[in-house]
Amino acid sequence: MTQELFHYIDGERRKGTSGRFADVYNPATGDISKQVPLASADEVRGAIASAAAALPGWSATPAAKRAQVLFKFRDLILKHMDELAELVSTEHGKILDDAKGSITRGLEVVEFACGIPHLLKGEYSQSVANGVDVMSARQPVGVCAGITPFNFPAMVPMWMFPMALATGNTFILKPSERDPSCGIRLAELMFEAGAPKGVLNVINGDKEAVDVLLSDPTVGAISFVGSTAIGRYIYETGCANGKRVQALCGAKNHMVIMPDADLDQAADAAMGAAYGSAGERCMAISVAVAVGDETADAFVHRMAPKVQSLKIGPYNDPAAEMGPVVTKEAKARIEDYIDQGVAAGAELVVDGRGVRLQGYENGFYVGGTLFDRVTTDMSIYKDEIFGPVLSVVRAKTYEEAKQMVIDHEYGNGAAIFTRDGDAARDFTQDVNIGMVGVNVPIPVPVAYHSFGGWKASLFGDHAVHGMEGVRFYTKLKTVTARWPSGIKEGAVFNFHSGSDTGH
Ligand code: NAD
Repeated sequence: MTQELFHYIDGERRKGTSGRFADVYNPATGDISKQVPLASADEVRGAIASAAAALPGWSATPAAKRAQVLFKFRDLILKHMDELAELVSTEHGKILDDAKGSITRGLEVVEFACGIPHLLKGEYSQSVANGVDVMSARQPVGVCAGITPFNFPAMVPMWMFPMALATGNTFILKPSERDPSCGIRLAELMFEAGAPKGVLNVINGDKEAVDVLLSDPTVGAISFVGSTAIGRYIYETGCANGKRVQALCGAKNHMVIMPDADLDQAADAAMGAAYGSAGERCMAISVAVAVGDETADAFVHRMAPKVQSLKIGPYNDPAAEMGPVVTKEAKARIEDYIDQGVAAGAELVVDGRGVRLQGYENGFYVGGTLFDRVTTDMSIYKDEIFGPVLSVVRAKTYEEAKQMVIDHEYGNGAAIFTRDGDAARDFTQDVNIGMVGVNVPIPVPVAYHSFGGWKASLFGDHAVHGMEGVRFYTKLKTVTARWPSGIKEGAVFNFHSGSDTGH
């Protein structure tokens, strides 16, 4: 028996009425475990109407009171951590430790948002002219929506709605249809924490639901995280419809390894960064650019046995270092890329194709894969594979390595491993990348800084969380006021009794 999921609108669970459903799998076993309803346009409009009705009351609630709801929400997440992690892992596939880590990263944004009274403090200039003062304040955009990917079903929604709600907006979350349960549960916990009904709604669905969010004039801002092709569509359509849009998209993150790097440290870092969460992270390292053949040989020599012995298993196996990928289609796509790499002449050092786990023969497992001698014209270099595949590219010089990073289509993250301060400084200064690490393989900014890439990794002007999040979800209002000093003799504050116009 598969479980039927629901939407969460107006503070309650709502059964889907469209008659359309998508299967939700347990990637560890390959079984269909749940069915998620795909909303009709009318159901989405219902969620928008609920968010619009909740807006006046919520936006007028003092920021300190909104923060109190977020404090309570934080406690509830901690209390329900195991349950939430189980929802993430059983639908996404990542091991429980990873799931908990991702929820904790989301929680940091909630903690940042708890400081909203301070973050919303405005600016004030006294006496810009005689008796004239100027005040700038930030006010909520209104009804906002978030469309999120499968790979972080708790963390990515938590990049969005805590900031949107803290700043006085109401929010509609459209989670990935592959792993929707965690998003729904978070909304229930937010309601339990004291957010009035309608302040946070969750609508499940696909393109049909998204297109309503993109076109309905009541929605003022859209946050999207997902693939570049869809992100471009969301950005262009949302902007054409007059909405504020931030679309965080695909990635191909390079790790440059200099000849002077601590290679043991670099190899350990690359293991976690390339294969953690089965490579299904937008900040995963998928390319290692080794500077010089000696560096490349030594790096591959260290990596090969580690990749070979990666322990793959279901999410709840405490010994597992890596779980399955999200769907059968994702497994087929990743294995097809490995075929393409081989066909293009890359050297396959460790082959992750055809993995079958005893007792989990139908699970969507792909083994850790390592390529050497990858060149920049190959599809495994150019495309985001979004799986446990690391490509080693050999550069002759640092300049050549840096240029590869600069020339790549994507600009989410990049890292340099070196002991040379000059090289590190030059790299961080010159690369056209949003998040850069020095001896840090996954430079995901903490919640009080902001997360976002450049180039085809982000469309729009704002990154998420930190002050960028506050700015994205608010509009600036500036008031210029003149208060003449003192009441002048003869000043008139009411209509003249003899006035013939009343003006
Ligand atoms: P996806 O683009 O397939 O889906 C993302 C969302 O868009 C989902 O909610 C989905 O229902 C919706 N969607 C899918 N097709 C649509 C269509 N035709 N019209 C309208 N909406 C549609 O992405 P995914 O496979 O769920 O997630 C993986 C991608 O997300 C990777 O490319 C990864 O790099 C990216 N990602 C980026 C970041 C970042 O911060 N840059 C973070 C996490 C994931």
